[in-house]
Amino acid sequence: MAFFLVSHNSKKSKARLGTITTDHGVVRTPAFVPVGTKGTIKGLTQEHIKELNIQLSFVNTYHLVVHPGVEVLAHAGGIHALAHYSIPLMSDSGGFQVFSLAKRQKERRSARVRGDEEPLVEKIDENGVVFRSTYNGQKIIFTPETSMDFQRTIGADINMAFDECTYYPATHEYTEKAMNRTHEWLKRCVEHRKGSKPNFSISSGYPALRASQVDEKLTSSPFSAPTSHQFLYGIIQGGTFEDLRKKSAEFVVAQNTPGIAIGGVSVGESKEEMRNQVKWVAPYLPKDRPVHLLGVGQVDDIVDLVQHGIDTFDCVEPTRVARMGTAYQTSAVLAHVDGLHSPYEIDLNKMEYKTDLSPLDAECSCSTCVHYSKAFIHHLFKQRELLGYTLLSYHNLFVMERLMDKIRVSIEANIL
Ligand SMILES: [Zn+2]
Repeated sequence: MAFFLVSHNSKKSKARLGTITTDHGVVRTPAFVPVGTKGTIKGLTQEHIKELNIQLSFVNTYHLVVHPGVEVLAHAGGIHALAHYSIPLMSDSGGFQVFSLAKRQKERRSARVRGDEEPLVEKIDENGVVFRSTYNGQKIIFTPETSMDFQRTIGADINMAFDECTYYPATHEYTEKAMNRTHEWLKRCVEHRKGSKPNFSISSGYPALRASQVDEKLTSSPFSAPTSHQFLYGIIQGGTFEDLRKKSAEFVVAQNTPGIAIGGVSVGESKEEMRNQVKWVAPYLPKDRPVHLLGVGQVDDIVDLVQHGIDTFDCVEPTRVARMGTAYQTSAVLAHVDGLHSPYEIDLNKMEYKTDLSPLDAECSCSTCVHYSKAFIHHLFKQRELLGYTLLSYHNLFVMERLMDKIRVSIEANIL
């Protein structure tokens, strides 16, 4: 079975229906990819994930490497086994977090807020980033090669090439430099995957870690035998500059990775700038490979950007807002597919819900809405009861699945 198959191309736009086939199951695209940063979609059990028919989830390499660490992941046989996951998973490269950590560290130093505290980031250059775990002080090296090895151990079905996510605003000069670095790193990721003789004393210019710094097991066994197929996505960067985005798209697509991702978006730029970054590269995107958009998940953005050829979207938004007491409203969410853009969130913290015994969302058939009222959920949030986080996360992801259902039906009918 091919990794990606397109079953229908919309006659109206660049939208398409497809399937991504992995060892852990098939993903019908376009799909929304809920984020489970540390190997858990916060507040949900694996039974919830199955009930919701979540097709693909996202884990963050940086967080998993810091804790529980590669030793534990290797010992368990990957995140699927450790976290009892049975659905396909996608992992990022760690680049986004290591660079945001580096940036914060720089800001802290320049602002002299943290005094003489030892910097967490020890070194950052063409090779990658060396930093100390905020958890236990362990030295961790992120290079294209170690990122590939970390992701191999995590065992997600889809992996991202190591990239530098440029922050907003950035100059053209800096963005170009970061983009070129990302391109060089992509070549190294592809090369490393081919040779696949992973260890931690890689020819990166950094000294090998001593056994006392990293468990000895790391340098001997766990990276040698991938048990499942892992598909690499190259990442298009280039910030908010049209010429760089196009240049990056051409380069990344030409590397022939099984999939393509668009990164460095939704990092502080306006909605219009964010969407432009996708629209500029749309003509360069491959017709026979899946395209993922990193970190975008607002309803209007998804509806707009599937029409420019995006197949999968990951975002913390639906579960993050759920934990703050915000519930999506089905009819308003689905109306976006018909071009009606009205607000689709309600805030259960508001006092107007204190005595409101109506269901959370009258249009929704999820178990939260079948069993619980707005008044009860208002009570849970006012009392910071854990069940509130679970009930709203469940509901918001259920609504996201309905949105993606409607999007797929609309593409099939050439409405989108
Ligand atoms: Zn519901």
